[in-house]
Amino acid sequence: MSVPDELLAHTPTSSVCKVCGSAAALYGVTDFNKSCGENGGHYFPLSGIPVYYHQCGHCGLVFTNAFDRWSPAQYVQHIYNDDYVLVDPDYVDARPRSYADFVQQFVRKAHNPALLDYGGGNGKLAALLAEQGFNAHSWDPIADSGCALPALASFDLVTAFEVIEHTPEPLATTRQALSFLQDDGVMLFSTLTIDHLPPTRRITGTSHRAMATSRFTPAARLKSCSAHSVTASITSTTSRIWP
Ligand SMILES: [Zn+2]
Repeated sequence: MSVPDELLAHTPTSSVCKVCGSAAALYGVTDFNKSCGENGGHYFPLSGIPVYYHQCGHCGLVFTNAFDRWSPAQYVQHIYNDDYVLVDPDYVDARPRSYADFVQQFVRKAHNPALLDYGGGNGKLAALLAEQGFNAHSWDPIADSGCALPALASFDLVTAFEVIEHTPEPLATTRQALSFLQDDGVMLFSTLTIDHLPPTRRITGTSHRAMATSRFTPAARLKSCSAHSVTASITSTTSRIWP
């Protein structure tokens, strides 16, 4: 496997929080090939490439700077390649199908809403909604990086399911997703959160092969919303991904 030069660069002991701008100390390190596919029994061989994480001392966000300078082409080469389905098999059909049911319930009282699934990857969610007669579109910063942007300020609902934790720029990504909303539109997003971190500082539950670059505490998620003057309604706060 080729090793991106950026991953071999020296990692500083301190960084700046990607959400609130406070100081963030080194938190932990894991192997580049750590994958959530291990939950299903699939293990990639260790790559020998360390990926360091920092944690914000204020809002608790855990994040890495390791992928900050990657191009879309590098993401496709190293992450979203033919092996991606081994890491995240539900990405192909099961997860978009469950979200399609959820979105249909969410907009059931709206009249012909314009829907955009931001970060929609293969576009499956929007395709399923379109099959049901919805005016649904998909745009993904990586998969559609060479395509034209959707029209700004033109959608009634922008969804971003499990997107924010996969971007090296969570605030910029959120800002771009919001830019597609009409003034009275609604953004519906989800991301895993953590309430408590293990004292061992051993990162055992994240997944670089799925590009999980950040883990949000509830405080970090609220701050990411307040940075854009967005009112957040958090319906579920905890999913324990790190033992
Ligand atoms: Zn912070």
